[in-house]
Amino acid sequence: MMGTTASPARLYIDDNRCHTCRRCLAQQVCKVKAIVRIDYDEPPFIDVHRCHGCKVCSLECPFDAVVTG
Ligand code: SF4
Ligand code: SF4
Repeated sequence: MMGTTASPARLYIDDNRCHTCRRCLAQQVCKVKAIVRIDYDEPPFIDVHRCHGCKVCSLECPFDAVVTG
């Protein structure tokens, strides 16, 4: 029987590319709220348990900081 856990692309935010924008466009477009920000002085990060790998966020980030690992 086929498993139900198809492995989507793992995306993460590259801290070296992220400009820690005041308003994270990537975060705003994620419909499942998988991009999490705790501190506005730190780059946001992707909650792998919520992210389903649609990559919409990677298209929105102006600095190409959302990358596939
Ligand atoms: S992920 Fe992209 S849009 Fe979001 S804070 Fe970093 S550079 Fe800005
Ligand atoms: S890949 Fe899709 S689900 Fe995952 S963080 Fe980006 S917009 Fe959200």
